[in-house]
Amino acid sequence: MIRPLDARFVTTAVAPEGYPGGGTPEIAFVGRSNVGKSSMINAIAGRRKLVRVSHTPGRTRTLNFFDVDLEVDGERRTLRLADLPGYGFARVQKKERATWERMITTYLAGRRELRGVVSIVDAEVGPTQDDMRTLRYLAEIGRPALVVATKLDRLPKARRRPRLRAIAEALRVNPHQVLGFSATEKQGLTAVCQALWELSDRASTVVDP
Ligand code: GDP
Repeated sequence: MIRPLDARFVTTAVAPEGYPGGGTPEIAFVGRSNVGKSSMINAIAGRRKLVRVSHTPGRTRTLNFFDVDLEVDGERRTLRLADLPGYGFARVQKKERATWERMITTYLAGRRELRGVVSIVDAEVGPTQDDMRTLRYLAEIGRPALVVATKLDRLPKARRRPRLRAIAEALRVNPHQVLGFSATEKQGLTAVCQALWELSDRASTVVDP
């Protein structure tokens, strides 16, 4: 049994000086704009509007931190979720993209509290070039990654499992690293929370600077 007990916004940051302190194990969420990242974080938090579900894709340009208290089999733990700005926004200028990339890579490579990264892909569309680059980058820097394919409700039931396998193949990850999810059907939430819990148990992959 896994359930969210409480959730709250912590802070917004654009650089390490602004990252929250406290040493809470952290899980980051990445994905292209409009993939369903806010909806997924809200579902994990058990709140409808912790993160605003955006109707203007690409508007968020900051790292947003949330704390979620989860209970698993009677054990209570706080996980910090880092919502990273969505990528693949066509109208973004080259220069703005470089600034954005620096903000994300500085965080992903250096954040000591970071235990793992959830890469969110669209189950219907499949992985994009940006998703593939992200996974390659995470492997390079040695960060544990979990792929969650969302909007699974848009696929007929018979196509869901084969699609998840195809996503794993395209991203060159183990099929066990790919979970299916739907915010609208409330599907896959327990498995995702369980995976986050297990990630938060792992040691930090950042060695002393
Ligand atoms: P974000 O930009 O990645 O944070 O994405 P949002 O969570 O704001 O969602 C973008 C759009 O996709 C919204 O219109 C949501 O209602 C829709 N959406 C999010 N999750 C799901 C899902 O699991 N299934 C379906 N069918 N639509 C979803």
